[in-house]
Amino acid sequence: MILECVYCGRKEPKGRDHIPPKNLFPSPRPSDLITVPSCRKCNEGASLDDEYFRLMLTTRDAAYNHPAAQEVWRRAMSRLSRPQSAGFKHAFLDTVREIELKTPAGIFLGTAGAYDVDFERLEVVASRIARGLFYHEIGRRLPSNCYYRAFVLERFDATDLSPDSTIGRTVRALSELPHKDIGQGVFRYKWSQVADADRHPNTTAWLFSFYESTLFLASTVDPN
Ligand SMILES: [Zn+2]
Repeated sequence: MILECVYCGRKEPKGRDHIPPKNLFPSPRPSDLITVPSCRKCNEGASLDDEYFRLMLTTRDAAYNHPAAQEVWRRAMSRLSRPQSAGFKHAFLDTVREIELKTPAGIFLGTAGAYDVDFERLEVVASRIARGLFYHEIGRRLPSNCYYRAFVLERFDATDLSPDSTIGRTVRALSELPHKDIGQGVFRYKWSQVADADRHPNTTAWLFSFYESTLFLASTVDPN
């Protein structure tokens, strides 16, 4: 059987791509990591985005209490000190700035590091994860004419997530499903196909969490 690269469809998938990227897991890595067929070009093309993804997700305050996030963060930081990472390091440090922390009453609490997150860059990685998981769960490649997208959940406001909005309904329905867990909370996902799967076999919705802190909503959609 000739396998196709799950991303570009090329019929020469020499390698396997880890879903999610294996750099998110501390060593020893769990034995149940998911892999999907991938050509070398698609595999190598993702590595800088993967590095950015793990650095941003493990730097977040909310991830700090997760032991795996702490270890992965230390590893990411030591990797940043390599000479060949100099450009990447500056790009990251340029986004970090000191902010003043104040209570609502205006009492000064000290300073904390803050940084700007390029959400769209994180979403590129998360949408790739959705395509990989689509293959893993459904057993075939997401067709090239389908639309796919992922969003950091916190980008949505209360109106977007209201009970009568599509996004709000989708998130609520997904929340009630059992999750699959890889690496004790490093990565969890839930997913669902739409109700009329006969007409829309490629339309799916996904909820991802990383280090039990950052959530993404992803979807794949059939063309009309
Ligand atoms: Zn490919």
